[in-house]
Amino acid sequence: MDQLVRIAVQKSGRLSDDSLSLIKECGIKFYNGTGKLKSTSTNFPLEFLFLRDDDIPGYVADGVADIGIVGHNEVAEKAKEVVLLKKLGFSKCRLSLAIPKGTPYSSLSYFEGKSIATTYPNILGNFLKQHQIKAEIHEISGSVEIAPSIGLADGICDLVSSGSTLMMNGLKEVQEVFTSEAVLIGNPKLTDGKKTILDKLLFRINAVQTGKSNKYVLMNVPNSAIPKIIQLIPGMRSPTILPLAEEGWSSIHSVLSEEQFWENMDELRAAGAEGILVVPIEKMVI
Ligand code: ATP
Ligand code: ZN
Repeated sequence: MDQLVRIAVQKSGRLSDDSLSLIKECGIKFYNGTGKLKSTSTNFPLEFLFLRDDDIPGYVADGVADIGIVGHNEVAEKAKEVVLLKKLGFSKCRLSLAIPKGTPYSSLSYFEGKSIATTYPNILGNFLKQHQIKAEIHEISGSVEIAPSIGLADGICDLVSSGSTLMMNGLKEVQEVFTSEAVLIGNPKLTDGKKTILDKLLFRINAVQTGKSNKYVLMNVPNSAIPKIIQLIPGMRSPTILPLAEEGWSSIHSVLSEEQFWENMDELRAAGAEGILVVPIEKMVI
């Protein structure tokens, strides 16, 4: 039966909260009590499997799960047969090469003949090959950042977001290898019934993402400034204009990307806009 789509999400870790928040923002309700490995939504045909992130690409490729939310880094490392459906914009990080702080470094050729500890041997291997560097890759399963100080390797290749963990371990980032964020992946051979459910989910995810990157903006303007202001804030189709109780003034409502808003802020004020309010949008369907 094709009544349900199974989604694999990380059980507990850096991806978990944002993955589940996104699903909730899509209006999908479910129960995830501590320790539960499986759960079914009460209002959408979605069943959850809570797994270790490393296992998600494999389970999706094998069809144990139909879709999954996982770091792009894991997808690239595992190289399983999955389809990348959507970049999700959270858990952004990069996989980088780092070496002890005091060591002089000028180019990637530094790594020629050196040893590098990592949990991402495939991504690193491909990167080194592409740059024609021959180095020894030490695959380890965790605490990569202590490898140089205990004499296990000359450098490391590990995930970095702020760089503070590297610094605390006396390392400096010298080369970015891969940039990552959370992605939605899917099994390449979903049945039509499951594809229909997936399309509904993707529609909702798009609405949430578009809403997040846009703002609802309201402002009071003297009527004489309306033509100028309309040019600055075009809106979805066109702005809404409502008369204020005070003669000669109107309230203009529009939808803008946050970037657009900041770019046009000075011009809006110069044109006479005042009492400008910027309100978040929960969902937006264009
Ligand atoms: P699991 O127990 O599920 O195997 P884990 O310890 O391997 O978890 P986490 O540390 O929770 O994994 O990281 C999961 C994902 O979060 C990473 O694969 C990566 O995509 C992303 N991430 C974002 N920022 C960072 C960071 N600073 N360090 C590590 N991973 C990060
Ligand atoms: Zn993991």
